[in-house]
Amino acid sequence: MNPLVNFVVHKLLNPRKKWYPFISVFYLTYECNFRCPFCSDGSGTPYYRLPEKILPASEVIKLLKIIRTKCDYIVLTGGEPLRHPEFSSIMEAVVQMKFREVVLTTNGYDVDKHFSAIAGAVTSLVFSLNSLDPERSDRFFGLKSHDKGATLRKILGNIDLAEKHSNKNFQIHISSVVGPSNIEDLYKVYEFARKRDFIFAACPQLVGVKPHSGLSGKDDFRAFYTFLLEEKQKGNKVYGTTPYLEYMRDLRKFRCYPFTMLVVSPTGDVYYPCLEIGHLAGNLLKTQNLHKIRQNGERLFGPQPDCDNRCQSACALGFSMLFQHPSVIFEDIWFTARRFLHRLHD
Ligand code: SF4
Ligand code: SF4
Repeated sequence: MNPLVNFVVHKLLNPRKKWYPFISVFYLTYECNFRCPFCSDGSGTPYYRLPEKILPASEVIKLLKIIRTKCDYIVLTGGEPLRHPEFSSIMEAVVQMKFREVVLTTNGYDVDKHFSAIAGAVTSLVFSLNSLDPERSDRFFGLKSHDKGATLRKILGNIDLAEKHSNKNFQIHISSVVGPSNIEDLYKVYEFARKRDFIFAACPQLVGVKPHSGLSGKDDFRAFYTFLLEEKQKGNKVYGTTPYLEYMRDLRKFRCYPFTMLVVSPTGDVYYPCLEIGHLAGNLLKTQNLHKIRQNGERLFGPQPDCDNRCQSACALGFSMLFQHPSVIFEDIWFTARRFLHRLHD
């Protein structure tokens, strides 16, 4: 469905029994080569501890083709999606599916191994980066300190590789988790992204679905988001609109629209109303009718709950802000135009 029509459908009609997602988030695998101490799914379990069930490439491709009939936009994530043993074959198939946007999130470590498959398929390549300090990075990756920064150097080398790729038709994003122990590091990470013209995104550390207790109301946490808001006003590439960043800073409750997304597990499972709450409502390889999956979820688990203050993540909060403050789209267009005009004068 055309995104504008889809927006009107969601905004005005709020079809209770229908499901027309804007975007799909597909977890290729929950497996990961890192052990970040803040890694957490909606129940608080680190992704790498979830059962390691994955589909072979042929089944993943079948699943992606089904997803393609529902959505124009896809986020491929994990765990670490590059750990899927047939990752490159899957990316080659993704190219043929002609999604409008393909976003790949990665910890960056194995990007060099799969670079040509990645470069040919994605429109946004999102690297996680939480510090530029080698020893602290080791800790954030959950690795032993005898590594002495080799992991960070490899990731930075892969970011260089992506940046220098000649026929680049994707945008690089740097994505950081804002936790109680790395806020000071993030100013440097932001500067690293800004100097290279990458988009910088920052989400608060969640424990399960709730913001880490060491963040709420803390001056350094609020100051970092205030800094990002100021950078955004200057026209720099900070991900998210002004209300989005303000809600993140204040860790404010927002109205969630989980049916704007189609979140799919490595084996094709779909949850109601969202992966975080985790009620299994169907499997896309068995039932392709999303309206039926939603109706099944509602029948089994009741109406969508009015959640408390939680899930300040890019997807959940991002869509909420779009629906609550649609005019912010024009604000983003204005910031982009201003950046363009500044460049002309540089
Ligand atoms: S890189 Fe991501 S998936 Fe892997 S341990 Fe860290 S937070 Fe978890
Ligand atoms: S806020 Fe949204 S994403 Fe989070 S648990 Fe509630 S419905 Fe799910």
